[in-house]
Amino acid sequence: MPAIIRQEQKPAKHPYRILVAEDSPTQQRIIKTVLSREGFDVVIAGDGIEAVTQAFQENPDLVVLDIEMPRMDGYQVCRLLKDDYRTSRTPVIMLTSKSQETDKFWGLQTGADRYVTKDFQLTGLAGAVRELLGGGDKDGDAPARCNLPKQPAVDQQDVDVLSRVNELLDRKLYEATVINEISKLNTLSENCALTVSSVLTVIAKVTDCPVCSIMLVEESELIIHVHGPVGNSYFEEARRQAIGAASPYMKPGTASTQIEVVVDSDPSFIREDRPEFDGIKSMLVIPLQARGQKIAILILSSPRPDAFAEATQRLLEIIEYPVSLVVDNARLHEGTRRLAITDGLTRLFNHRHFYELLEQEFQRAVRYESQLSLIMADIDSFKKINDAHGHQVGDEILTQLAGVISREVRDMDIVARYGGEEIAVLLPQTGPKQACEVATRIRGAVENYNFHLPDGGNVTLSLGVAGFPECGASNYAGLVQVADAALYEAKKTGKNRVVAGGNYEPD
Ligand code: GH3
Ligand code: MG
Ligand code: MG
Repeated sequence: MPAIIRQEQKPAKHPYRILVAEDSPTQQRIIKTVLSREGFDVVIAGDGIEAVTQAFQENPDLVVLDIEMPRMDGYQVCRLLKDDYRTSRTPVIMLTSKSQETDKFWGLQTGADRYVTKDFQLTGLAGAVRELLGGGDKDGDAPARCNLPKQPAVDQQDVDVLSRVNELLDRKLYEATVINEISKLNTLSENCALTVSSVLTVIAKVTDCPVCSIMLVEESELIIHVHGPVGNSYFEEARRQAIGAASPYMKPGTASTQIEVVVDSDPSFIREDRPEFDGIKSMLVIPLQARGQKIAILILSSPRPDAFAEATQRLLEIIEYPVSLVVDNARLHEGTRRLAITDGLTRLFNHRHFYELLEQEFQRAVRYESQLSLIMADIDSFKKINDAHGHQVGDEILTQLAGVISREVRDMDIVARYGGEEIAVLLPQTGPKQACEVATRIRGAVENYNFHLPDGGNVTLSLGVAGFPECGASNYAGLVQVADAALYEAKKTGKNRVVAGGNYEPD
């Protein structure tokens, strides 16, 4: 007898196991026949609840679900299976006689992988199964969508199917409500900071996170929203950490000192005497994207270790998209609005917006019997500077001048480009004496500023000041006239000077 040198063993068959949930015995028989013929191992469940129970016990490689079934329909079964980590990657085929588009939409929304319409031979079913599993048994390459490795089966009593459904529906409803609350903020306001702050308020509530912030990538602006009482040092650390976390996403070269931190919260939230709220133990950084770009970073921090439960992280994943949309919209809106009210060269308010603000402030001053001052500043002999160094150098001077003046005034003061080389500064709740002091400060700052002119020369301003009600103006146009006349006087009497208009005599 010849010796056997080598004999290949025929590989043992390990057929894929398919769970079929179908209430009609006739359909059960047909489906079983079709799938068995393809070499699959078929397990039958007679209704939805049985299907869920068996899915956890039998660890099927694929689930076929009828939609209309007693006790629980196929949609709910599919939602449950796709929601559980043990079955979430098991392919699901929805099988139904319905063919309306709305049913398909709803079926696919539940996470089903295929939607197959029943016909006499169930031709679509076998094809869909083969496509999802790649063949009749597991000897070939394992298909990507199959759950590997298998989780151990659980006891039947563990599978409290109905309470699972309730819990899932409750969570989905909660998520939908949160998404709706965030989406509603889209129409809340044209003010970007206010919208971002409202978004953060919702996020702080639903995540139970004391400090959250949104960093707008382009703007170099970090808005830290504080929700609830936190210690002062915790807040400082949150600020430092947020800047650190955000820096990789910012324009290269933006130093952290350049980032403006807008603290938008009730100051009483921040307390010195809350050591239990000090220190950051947990932090989540979530980049927000829109139109294919990173537009902002959401940063959550907490003084508790392991503060972000799985449920919170899942919720954040779900709200990431609506939050991105709202923040992006608010930013675009604000960008468009800013373009409409600012001067392109100096980034100061433009002439039109200056008049809107002037009218508002004048009305306010009349109503509250408060003071309001206006400074009109004009570059001295600017034409000569342009003629000597060119228009571009002139433009650069205007840009830098805007910065020099803005730095000399308070946040609440309004700086606008009134005309070509004329800048207006509106000072609410300020009398003529103080306004003259501000004007003098501006005059000095400009005179001493190095504009790096090619000939080493400097730039000077003449300034006219008008203070309401002392100047006697009866409307906002009158205030402008007084300041203009004072400016004219400053030019006439030698330039690089401050002149107060109206009846006011500075001491
Ligand atoms: P005065 O001291 O009397 O104000 O003399 P001036 O030369 O500054 O005033 P004038 O009104 O004779 O000329 C204003 C000059 O300002 C003329 C114009 O070329 C220049 N100018 C106005 N707007 C701009 C601008 O946007 N860019 C540049 N480069 N120059 C500007
Ligand atoms: Mg049925
Ligand atoms: Mg001038």
